[in-house]
Amino acid sequence: MTTRTLALDGPAGSGKSSVSREVAQRLGWVMLDTGAMYRAITWAVLQANIDLDDHLAVAQEAHNTTIEITTDPGNFVITANGEDVTSAIRSPEVSAAVSAVSAVPQVRELLVQLQREAVENSAFGIVIEGRDIGTVVLPDSKLKVFLTATPEARARRRSLEVDPLASIETIAQTQEELHLRDAKDSGREHSPLKPAPDSQILDTSDLSLEQVVEQLVILAHQTYS
Ligand code: C5P
Repeated sequence: MTTRTLALDGPAGSGKSSVSREVAQRLGWVMLDTGAMYRAITWAVLQANIDLDDHLAVAQEAHNTTIEITTDPGNFVITANGEDVTSAIRSPEVSAAVSAVSAVPQVRELLVQLQREAVENSAFGIVIEGRDIGTVVLPDSKLKVFLTATPEARARRRSLEVDPLASIETIAQTQEELHLRDAKDSGREHSPLKPAPDSQILDTSDLSLEQVVEQLVILAHQTYS
C-alpha cells in the first residue's frame, strides 16, 4: 500500500464522522465514510421491501445496487443506483435496519472491495472510518485509532447533532437506540466492531472535537513524516 491511511473505528456516536472530515481537511487527505455505504445498501433494501431476515435477497439487492460516494471531505454526496440518498440514509428507519443488513457476509464482501478500491485510488492519504477498518479492511494500516466514549456522552452528542435543543427524554431514547445498534455490531459473527490489537484507543468523552482532531493530526504527522 503506497497511500497514507488513518483507519478510524468506533461505536455509533463516538464522533468518527465529524472528526474524520476535519482531520482529512487539515491533512489535505480524502475521507471515506464506510457507514454511509452500509446505510445506502440498507436504504435500497428497504425501498425494495425486502425481509431483513432473507439474507439471500438482501445480498442480491446489494449486488444490484450501484453505490457512488465522494471522498472530498468538503463535499459529501452518496448515490444508490444514481439516486442521491445523502439525506435519506440518515432516517430512523435506515438506522434501525442497518445493523441487520451489515451483518450479511456477502454485503460486507462487496463493500470491503469498494472500500479498498477507494483507498487504492487516493493519491496522497485517506481517513477511512467505520467498524472493521483496522481489523478487516486495512489490517496493514500504519495508523489505527479506535474512538470510544461513554454511552451517555455518545447519546448526548448524537442527539444534539440532530437537535441542539434535544430533551433529556430524547437523549435517553437515543442512548437506547445506540446501545441496541452497538450490541448487534459487536456481537455479529462477521467483522464485529472491535479494536485491532495494534489500535490506539482514544476516549473522547471529555474531549472537544478540536482536541480529538488535534491529537489525530499529530499522530498522522508522527506516523507518516
Ligand atoms: O457509522 P454509522 O453509524 O453511519 O454506521 C452505520 C452502521 O453501518 C453501523 O451501525 C454498522 O452496522 C454498519 N457498519 C459496519 N461496518 C463499517 C461501517 C458501518 O458494519 N465499516
